[in-house]
Amino acid sequence: MKTHSAGKTLVTILLILFLGTNAAMTTYAGEYAPEAVNLLPEAADAKAIQGPTTSITISAAGDCTLGIDSRYSHNFNKYYKKKGDSYFLRKVRSVFSRDDITIVNFEGTLTGSTKRARKTFTFKGPKKYASILKKGSVEVVNLANNHSKDYGKSSLTDTQKTLKKNKIGYCYNPTINYQTVKGVKTAFLGFNALERITKKQVKNGISQAKKNNAEIIIVSFHWGTERKYYPNSKQKSLGHYAIDCGASLVLGHHPHVLQGIEQYKGRYIVYSLGNFCFGGNSNPKDKDTMIFQQTFTLKNGKLQTKNDAKIIPCSLSSHKNTNDFQPKILSGSEKKRLIKKMNTLSKKLIGLFHEEK
Ligand SMILES: [Zn+2]
Repeated sequence: MKTHSAGKTLVTILLILFLGTNAAMTTYAGEYAPEAVNLLPEAADAKAIQGPTTSITISAAGDCTLGIDSRYSHNFNKYYKKKGDSYFLRKVRSVFSRDDITIVNFEGTLTGSTKRARKTFTFKGPKKYASILKKGSVEVVNLANNHSKDYGKSSLTDTQKTLKKNKIGYCYNPTINYQTVKGVKTAFLGFNALERITKKQVKNGISQAKKNNAEIIIVSFHWGTERKYYPNSKQKSLGHYAIDCGASLVLGHHPHVLQGIEQYKGRYIVYSLGNFCFGGNSNPKDKDTMIFQQTFTLKNGKLQTKNDAKIIPCSLSSHKNTNDFQPKILSGSEKKRLIKKMNTLSKKLIGLFHEEK
């Protein structure tokens, strides 16, 4: 890989993406077998890891708005009433329940408050909607976004209380969530970059996680411009900075559409995960989304550079012409189309990897 030209490298990546599909599929069984692709041909070049190793697999998905803005639509609530809580993430649960930790961006509130903030869109759902996450095997949510206070500051506290009660972790700087699986501590940090945040806050948060002995540090950023397919310079600079400070993976959201994935210093920046289980729009034009999944390998408790990452192409709805709020895993030509799209969006970004050697 290292001596390849950028063009050749891209062809290789595309080839491996397609060839890797069948192999990855055998990992899973059942009705909703995810059609996964290996993102990381470089992993094969990584040094073989010797000694006792532990693997931690983390899945990440985009905006989950479990609720409605009653001024526009009641559809999400109607689906809940008719189908129940396990309906929404049923088709992706096979992925989320087999990993070690799942994180999504929770873009809304769980509150009974009627004090709507003055905004174009304000989202809320009743507290019982937390069970949608439970039933879907989601362990952590990011609350650092522009909708977590849609019904005032108390709506954020309400959401946090409900999540806590349901044993779902949440992050919103300065709150860091820690999850310990197989003896490995993973830290989840969240920053809403649409608010005024400083690089120092990012650095301090990551230092805090290190001080608390987190081996894997996942940093979520709410950033970018809505409906833009390419990250802006602020996203790139902040993403790089987080990794420079020690982040193991950077996850982005807010554009409501997918953006590319960059490999930087052997780590990934997923610029935008898009919408996922999104009650905020009854029929988004672009229904493409994905689950980004990375398996981190630790040797004697230390994080290695050998990391396996893949994307699982999804649609945010099981229906083409409407949003039924039930994300599904894509297959066949639709899966191929989305892989191609992600390669196009990531082309320039993955290119940056070659400057980093
Ligand atoms: Zn947002």
